[in-house]
Amino acid sequence: MVDKYGRTIEYMRVSVTDRCDLRCRYCMPPEGCEKVPMSSILTYEQIVRICRVSADLGISRIKITGGEPFARLGCTGLIRDIKGLPGIEQVTVTTNGQTLENHIEELKAAGVDGINISLDTLDPGRFAYITGRGVLEKTLRAVELAAGSGIKTKINSLIMKGFNEDEITALAGFAFSRGIDARFIEMMPVGAADAGRGMSNETVLAVLKEKWPELVPDESIHGNGPAVYYKRPGERGAIGLISAMHGKFCEECNRVRLTSQGEIKPCLCYDTGTDIRPFLSESDDRLREAVRDAILEKPEAHCFDSMNDAGGHAEHRLMSQIGG
Ligand code: SAM
Ligand code: SF4
Repeated sequence: MVDKYGRTIEYMRVSVTDRCDLRCRYCMPPEGCEKVPMSSILTYEQIVRICRVSADLGISRIKITGGEPFARLGCTGLIRDIKGLPGIEQVTVTTNGQTLENHIEELKAAGVDGINISLDTLDPGRFAYITGRGVLEKTLRAVELAAGSGIKTKINSLIMKGFNEDEITALAGFAFSRGIDARFIEMMPVGAADAGRGMSNETVLAVLKEKWPELVPDESIHGNGPAVYYKRPGERGAIGLISAMHGKFCEECNRVRLTSQGEIKPCLCYDTGTDIRPFLSESDDRLREAVRDAILEKPEAHCFDSMNDAGGHAEHRLMSQIGG
């Protein structure tokens, strides 16, 4: 559907849980956070129903996220069910990869269209530090399995000053050597993030171009969002830059989020959203109307770059609670 500002909204990030087995420093405090009781979390049936009425409105692509989606039992079954909905063209998932090995076969059978794996560093010590408790080997294995499965695989990396800025080309080279995409995501001032440490993708690109001057923009590649892609001639994998901060892309933003508690959240920057749980006891028509109204609340732009605290409505929840 087209929103108030003429943008076509076709992509929904669906969070299935606020739980996570890791504690990435920019996402969650080390002690974790208060868990939402399972009774407040949408059931899979409710999620499928919301996706079904959203598909009627033109949402054709769904990303399953969290928290860590595989921290919730049965997530692959949900993917299979959403894949079967009329109007849904693509279902992808984003994961920290720590338990992917246990799910890859079911994911293939479910027909998942893509797997994004978060990987900020190739150094085991740094990985343990940034994730709080993760084991690099498990995520590397997840990348190998996903890449070898034939499912479109991407790694997602956040580059932080003084932490992994010396690994930009190593991460890209790691992806290139496996024929998969490397995406660099600018850190946003959400949750536990110290956004001052985030590195601009302009700098990331400059570093990549110094190593590979032959990198050229590739407009033929489209993910679900406004990533800008670069390729080396003859290379299977590409570089994607998602520059929410320094390359503000609000004019082309095509997404909304569904939190695990049933809130449609139109923009990450603000604490605003619509609780659509009350409409789950109503007809499909009424529920669809509620989703439509929620999407129409999407603001024109984020204001991460200004210091006005979003007019008193800045988002203070963690990324894992909202659904990253
Ligand atoms: N647990 C899964 C994972 O790590 O991929 C899915 C949820 S996680 C919140 C989704 C993505 O959000 C990850 O790639 C993570 O790096 C990113 N993320 C978390 N906090 C962020 C922040 N403050 N700014 C930008 N990206 C962030
Ligand atoms: Fe968990 Fe993903 Fe957040 Fe890391 S980024 S703490 S893996 S939800």
